Amino acid sequence: MITTLEYDVVIVGSGAGGGTIAARLSPLCESGARIALLEAGPHYTREHFNTRERDMIGLFIDRGAMPSNNYEIAVSAASCVGGSTAVYTGVTFRAPDGLIDGWARDFGLDELSGADIEARFPRLEGEIDAHFPGDEYENANNRLFREGCESLGWPVKQFRVNVARCERCGFCNLGCPYGAKRGTLEVQVPRAVERGVELIPNCRVHTIDDDGVNAVLGDAPEGTMASRHPTGPLRIEAKRIVIAAGTLNSSAILMRSRSRLGDLSPALGRYLTLHPALTSFGRMPEPVRGFDGFPKLHYTDRFSESHHYYIETAFYFPFVTAKSLPGFGSDIRRFMGSYDHLTCALTLVHDEPEHHNRMTIAGPEGRPEIDYRLSQRSRDAIVHAQQSTGRIFFEAGAEEYVSPVSNRFSMTSPADLEPVITVGDLQSGRVVVSSAHPMGGCRMGSDPDTSVTNAWGELHGHPAVVVGDASVFPTSTKVNPYLTVMALAERCAERIAAGL
Ligand SMILES: Cc1cc2nc3c(=O)[nH]c(=O)nc-3n(C[C@H](O)[C@H](O)[C@H](O)COP(=O)(O)OP(=O)(O)OC[C@H]3O[C@@H](n4cnc5c(N)ncnc54)[C@H](O)[C@@H]3O)c2cc1C
Repeated sequence: MITTLEYDVVIVGSGAGGGTIAARLSPLCESGARIALLEAGPHYTREHFNTRERDMIGLFIDRGAMPSNNYEIAVSAASCVGGSTAVYTGVTFRAPDGLIDGWARDFGLDELSGADIEARFPRLEGEIDAHFPGDEYENANNRLFREGCESLGWPVKQFRVNVARCERCGFCNLGCPYGAKRGTLEVQVPRAVERGVELIPNCRVHTIDDDGVNAVLGDAPEGTMASRHPTGPLRIEAKRIVIAAGTLNSSAILMRSRSRLGDLSPALGRYLTLHPALTSFGRMPEPVRGFDGFPKLHYTDRFSESHHYYIETAFYFPFVTAKSLPGFGSDIRRFMGSYDHLTCALTLVHDEPEHHNRMTIAGPEGRPEIDYRLSQRSRDAIVHAQQSTGRIFFEAGAEEYVSPVSNRFSMTSPADLEPVITVGDLQSGRVVVSSAHPMGGCRMGSDPDTSVTNAWGELHGHPAVVVGDASVFPTSTKVNPYLTVMALAERCAERIAAGL
């Protein structure tokens, strides 16, 4: 039997976009508006997060990452209340100067302005405790990166992080056991629920139409909050439907809904950007204990303009570290034996939106799939970035450098970098590039042939359906994107509130 419910607004997805929209709309509940926040994943709380890789892998879609069809890249995102903000590091960047005005200009988004979005950043940062942390946050991994860059004369900058009362236990990407990471799980979703938004976890939306959504409500895993509704098929009628299921799922929901919504833009799913990423490692003579302390503080944009990438500090858990090393066997065993002596940094490439890079659906259930090819520009950027990271680590005193893009396991001097790390070594299936920043698929724009939504995230031809997550980005942000997702989501919420 199908359970039918009725709300004024239904929001699909509780991550950076959906959680922010729920919080912004929640004051309307005081005047009687009924708002539901549907989340495919469970409602874990901080008590669940034990920072063990094996136990926490289920926080992620596909128990880790969704590989592209050609296995060139694997994209991670979370599936739980709070969305990817439950597993992000909290690196907080404002959209780069000129980015939003560039979107407005290039995509005919007259209602969008950089000044409006920029004005939102300081307040949002205040709400989620985003700030420049003090010197005590700089562990040895971050210090070595900074010293290496400084010694090379490369700019090294700090980013804001959104944490409060952080215990600096290191493994933020497995969920924060202290609730110190101030994402939507800890801030916006509780605020929305307190004011009367109904959170329905374990509720996976399959299709939508102009009047509501069709979902299945599953069982709540043991120890997590269940909803008050019976499990099984659910029809939820609403005046406004917000799709904020993240780039990996929002366009898939719309594609599965084609027969109900009629013609949708041919751009649906397309212009996917991912910030292709790779980690690489230096082995230092002294202990580094990169797993101790806050993992990410610094970045260099030395090659952002010329070669299209950033390098950020990073440190990951043992399995993720081991899987990022090239090859198999004794070299890996030996290198992992020095885990407490390793430095680590992350390459983040500014990829460009391309028509053929897209989300699509497959199989009878319309499962989301990724069609993505690394462009030559991104390949060159990855290779250059892997060489540059080696320079930083050698400058900081590394005895050995390991990059996943290489024709031998490791390098012991800067002279090795160019011969050992070449574009030819970046082979599909051998080097798995990763991504945690999927963007696009429902890009904003004025032309329904080349864009999916307008400047308010409203689906072209379907003003009751609003997309409110990273999938509306017309291009990548170049920088870590969550704050920009939240700022755009706020605008959607304001438009919805005005319409109601
Ligand atoms: C490991 C990791 C580290 C990161 N670190 C940073 C960082 O430090 N700084 C930064 O700026 N960004 C970071 N990001 C990226 C950032 O978290 C995302 O850009 C941001 O959360 C995207 O917001 P969103 O609303 O589009 O999607 P999400 O936050 O992913 O939320 C989407 C939600 O929709 C739910 N959903 C999906 N399908 C359905 C469905 N059919 N029905 C109902 N619900 C559904 C999902 O379960 C999820 O909860 C990181 C991401 C990851 C994975």
